[in-house]
Amino acid sequence: MPTPAADLAGEPFTLGVASGEPLADSVVLWTRLAPDPADPTGGMPDELFDVAYDVARDEDFTTVIASGLAIADSDYAHSVHVEPGDLEPATTYFYRFRIGEHVSQTGRTRTLPAEGTDPFRFALTTCQDPQFGEYAAWADIAADDELDAVIFTGDYIYELPPLDFSPQGDGRRMWTTPPPADLAGFRARYAQVKRDPSLQAAHAALPFLTMWDDHEITDNYWADGPGQFDSAGGDFAARRAAAYQAWWEHQPARAPAPTAGTHTLHRSVRVGDLAEFFLIDTRQFADEPPCRDTSAFDFGAGCDERDDPDRTLLGDDQAAWLTAGLRTSNARWTSLVSPSMFAGLDARDPGGVEPKYYLEAWDGYPAERARVADALADAPNPIVLSGDYHASFVLDVGPGFGRDVICPEVMATAISSSPFATDYTAANPHVQYFNPDNGYTRCTVTADRWQADYRSVGDIWNPADPLETVASFEFPAR
Ligand code: FE
Ligand code: CA
Repeated sequence: MPTPAADLAGEPFTLGVASGEPLADSVVLWTRLAPDPADPTGGMPDELFDVAYDVARDEDFTTVIASGLAIADSDYAHSVHVEPGDLEPATTYFYRFRIGEHVSQTGRTRTLPAEGTDPFRFALTTCQDPQFGEYAAWADIAADDELDAVIFTGDYIYELPPLDFSPQGDGRRMWTTPPPADLAGFRARYAQVKRDPSLQAAHAALPFLTMWDDHEITDNYWADGPGQFDSAGGDFAARRAAAYQAWWEHQPARAPAPTAGTHTLHRSVRVGDLAEFFLIDTRQFADEPPCRDTSAFDFGAGCDERDDPDRTLLGDDQAAWLTAGLRTSNARWTSLVSPSMFAGLDARDPGGVEPKYYLEAWDGYPAERARVADALADAPNPIVLSGDYHASFVLDVGPGFGRDVICPEVMATAISSSPFATDYTAANPHVQYFNPDNGYTRCTVTADRWQADYRSVGDIWNPADPLETVASFEFPAR
């Protein structure tokens, strides 16, 4: 029996509302009841609650097209995930949640088109460590009325210890909890991040397609173990299971919740006849990065082990799904959304002679990358989107691993995480653009061209910083 709402300890919608996983006829709506978000329980009793939701065509809710009740369960941190169906394609909707006298802020979302090649505009985003900056990029995205969606490629939280210094002096955005080792620890990190008003505004304005990378669990982890720098230690499988569950509890993700420490998150999303996006998971099923006995932080000179043809970043099932999907895609554009750089980067010391690579990303798995590249080359108008690096790039995919140019790669910089400023362009002629500023990439996709506008933050400590477009690239369709 759900508990009467009168038992709530205060305003429950402190973490905002969100929508995600849009299709042509449905979208997932999310909130979480947390009157005391800093508490591991969210300030909620260990009971079930009924939460009402409304979906309308107008912001004033005069034309409600769906209403219902959803259960908020303490087993899932009193998060709510509802997926109203029978929506119209390419249509804007408004939604809200209600419990007792409490009404959430109003969210806006949009379904995808069912057909046609109308323009599609989205923000490509990644990496939002709050310790290194304010979220002006999210405020900029929230205010952009032309956008249709957000694609987030990972590092929504970081599991790292709080910094032992405050980059801007007053400590106001430091992690307040130690590296998460269990469900309560991961929930605390999400609750801290999701208090940010600009992030809440972006979620309330646009549907998100979200993929995780490593820091939602632990730095540079692979299927069965952590990276070489592991903050929390302890039983890895149990920690991974807790991390996956906390991720799901705090995202507008489709049910079911992760079970038994696994969660299938790779998927393809079709935007009418214009584009098909393949979102891939490069951590959950990955082999251990190569040469850990001779590298630190999974970075170093090349090693024979990385050339083993059987090594996998995707796992065999996901790799088979991806290559078959790329080969049979028949939208105008085919986009591989990779949490980390696909084109590869020789990160040798500037002026140095010995090539060096990030071995936990695609450069540590060249044989599988070649198989994915073959499939990409067979797809209509391929383009790779990526994040993770904490710098903006445009790259040619192919020459970085000994091939002709296959397609462009558009890599978004970090929303706020500390930029990696070393410029490796001299040793990497396939790098067309590099910029270590924070920000995001705004993409405009039409039948004829894919435009990528690089939006940069000026002052990362000003939450109202006006972003500027500092570079634009156009990739014509063939
Ligand atoms: Fe990151
Ligand atoms: Ca990452």
